[in-house]
Amino acid sequence: MTPRRRRPCLVCGTLTRNPSRCDTHQREWQAQQDRTRGSAHQRGYTQAWRTAAAQAVAQHRTQHGNWCPGWRVPPHEASNLTADHVVPKAAGGTDDPENIQVLCRGCNSRKHSITTD
Ligand SMILES: [Zn+2]
Ligand SMILES: [Zn+2]
Repeated sequence: MTPRRRRPCLVCGTLTRNPSRCDTHQREWQAQQDRTRGSAHQRGYTQAWRTAAAQAVAQHRTQHGNWCPGWRVPPHEASNLTADHVVPKAAGGTDDPENIQVLCRGCNSRKHSITTD
């Protein structure tokens, strides 16, 4: 085993075996990176997602017609159906069909205004 040289933390200068930051500041920095990535991820709806979402809505229409399953309201007729993630991408959700929920725009925006992700 070759002992690794200690380096000063970029933030506080404490000598550490980590590459650039002491344990405390490494954790802080990592948490900040995760937050940045999470929000960028949420905003950046990819082409793959748009395709999957369009397919989910089309399939829903084939099976149920213009019918919104309702979010905290009874199912109702709605022509403006949209697809949304059941588990948000930031929380580890995927673009797979099983993680896609079809709701009308009204239900979708209501859901988003309450579950601030
Ligand atoms: Zn530090
Ligand atoms: Zn609805």
